Amino acid sequence: MLGQMMHRDLSIIEILKFAAENHSVSEVVSLRTEGDVHRYTYSDCLVRVSKLANAILNLGVKKGDRVATLAWNGYRHLELYYAISGVGAVCHTINPRLSAEQMLYILEHAGDSILFVDTTFVPIIEKLASKLPKNLVIIVMASSESMSNFSDEYLSYETLITESSQKIIWPELPENTAAGLCYTSGTTGNPKGALYSHRSTVLHALTISLNMGLFLGNGMKVLPVVPLFHVNAWGLPYAAPLTGTSLIFPGPNLDGASLFNLMDHENVNSAWGVPTVWLGLLEEIRNQGKAPSQFQNVVIGGSAAPKSMIEEFEGLGITVCHAWGMTEMSPVGTQGFLPQPMTKLLSSDEQILKKCNQGRRVFGVDLKIVDEKGSSLPHDGEASGELYVRGNAIISGYYKNEQSTEESFDKEGWFGTGDIASITSDGFLNIQDRAKDLIKSGGEWISSIDIENVVMGHPKVANCAVIAVSHPKWEERPLLVVVSNGNIRVTKQEIDDLLLGHIAKWQLPDAIEFLDALPLTATGKVSKLTLREMFANYKLT
Ligand code: AMP
Repeated sequence: MLGQMMHRDLSIIEILKFAAENHSVSEVVSLRTEGDVHRYTYSDCLVRVSKLANAILNLGVKKGDRVATLAWNGYRHLELYYAISGVGAVCHTINPRLSAEQMLYILEHAGDSILFVDTTFVPIIEKLASKLPKNLVIIVMASSESMSNFSDEYLSYETLITESSQKIIWPELPENTAAGLCYTSGTTGNPKGALYSHRSTVLHALTISLNMGLFLGNGMKVLPVVPLFHVNAWGLPYAAPLTGTSLIFPGPNLDGASLFNLMDHENVNSAWGVPTVWLGLLEEIRNQGKAPSQFQNVVIGGSAAPKSMIEEFEGLGITVCHAWGMTEMSPVGTQGFLPQPMTKLLSSDEQILKKCNQGRRVFGVDLKIVDEKGSSLPHDGEASGELYVRGNAIISGYYKNEQSTEESFDKEGWFGTGDIASITSDGFLNIQDRAKDLIKSGGEWISSIDIENVVMGHPKVANCAVIAVSHPKWEERPLLVVVSNGNIRVTKQEIDDLLLGHIAKWQLPDAIEFLDALPLTATGKVSKLTLREMFANYKLT
């Protein structure tokens, strides 16, 4: 027997319409590429989104067409998110840090008809000009006055908006209509596309608002350092308007001092991003001897949050939420706010140890770990295996890529994350490594994350990474690569002394190498792929 309830398709534009009505004074504040601060309300945002949607339709965009963006976190990019999906087209966010080759591959593979580009990235496009798809319309996200700096062939974003009507009847779209497209990066081979739907996006936004909403809500202010050009800034462009949280966008200024100033000036309560950006912010906090005034919560994800980082934030009274997810998962899979009994019963040291885990699943995500034969392993905190997931906001296949699709799902339809993990009986996920980053020494596994986590706590270490290098007897051994904090280099003995309380002797890194900076992926994570290439011929003595 079926329930007797109306079926209303879930639709992304409804989030902004709701915010414009219910949270009309909550703001979107953006540090612009123009150099100034722009601010307006969700109601203002909806007006411009309606005009932009008409402009996009006037350019001939049809349902299902892919429309690309190459832009920083700012109000215009937010407008594109809503206008493009609102008319039934697909908002394809491109990561500007990709190589020219990858960018061309993605544009071609997605079949984009229009590219919206921030002024900063116009030089990238000019370099690629001769190789770009023939009929690609390029729109610079700037006013008509600034267009004199660019080719006559490019259109002005602001002119399009000015010349378009505000009146729009948003099309009713089946909720499975594609809404967003994001390619994974940082792996070998060609990038693979995750194609989000209206349904998955709205459900993900609701999930975040519920499960990660401790510091979201009317009157709160959130700063996504995580980019709109990668995995929907972890869902904040949707969850923030839904909850009435003001969005504070940093534009291109992601160094510690700029983030500090913006957060302090705009009274940001919560900031979300990868560990690398927090290293910069923490340095600025140390320099200033204080945290941004209203800073209450930091969400750390994308790669493992080191214990020392969690400790430092918590010591400042800033609640850490350590989250885990993937492009293929929209992206949030688990979140690490501790529930009340734990915040009451556990000592602060115990709470920090709990927060070194990647937290517990959000609603709508199921987790399982499996052994090499694909059999499920117990959630006992001991057994570890490859992590598989299923849920409402997880891909069912890669966009136009049958081979990767076939390789990535098990017989029951679960998606293989490529992460190795254990799960406790009360649901805490512990990511030990990417399968390909684990170090196999004499048939036993060594987790690079475990070592990094401890080494990051050494005062002479600013940043570090552990990679496998080949060894004639043991097959692979760990090499520790360190960026020094100051002029005095940490010694092997000091590292061993620090690590020995945490890992077995045979797991100690065999050697340390020093770099001025660690190579980063297009999404701001440490690129182990590049490090492995750099040290491919490394000889352990
Ligand atoms: P991406 O699709 O680029 O966001 O990368 C997803 C991958 O990043 C995951 O499969 C993990 O390997 C890694 N990752 C994300 N969050 C965390 C975390 N909190 N701890 C450890 N690894 C993480």
